[in-house]
Amino acid sequence: MKEKKWIDCPACGSKGSMKYKKGMSETYRNPGYEPITVPNLDGYFCSACGEGIYSIKSSKIITSKLTDEKARQDSKRVVASELIDVDSVAKKLSVTRQRVHQMMDEGKISYVYVGKHRFPVRDNESSYKKLKKRIHTASHK
Ligand SMILES: [Zn+2]
Repeated sequence: MKEKKWIDCPACGSKGSMKYKKGMSETYRNPGYEPITVPNLDGYFCSACGEGIYSIKSSKIITSKLTDEKARQDSKRVVASELIDVDSVAKKLSVTRQRVHQMMDEGKISYVYVGKHRFPVRDNESSYKKLKKRIHTASHK
């Protein structure tokens, strides 16, 4: 995906209102979680309505930070029996352990922290099946 330079606001339709800004921070509120603030973001923001479009890099930072922060908060309440180790998931999906970690970063696999280590959540089987299907479709291209 190529970075787009925004000029007109896609939200309110103002012309030439989008200005590039960096050092922005955004706070996300999810039901059941403490608010999560992600600092140092950049992107284009509308001077008329305040709507913002983050750069690709910032969007990735947001996804990985939100997933990571949720994992830290979840680790206080998820019990060990709901977890599965990275090796088992790798085997299940027929991918490498690195790919499993990558998918955790991308928010495709939910996980929690146990000490310093990340453990995927023993999600329902159907979501792993879906992922497996997607991986295999992608690799056939
Ligand atoms: Zn606007």
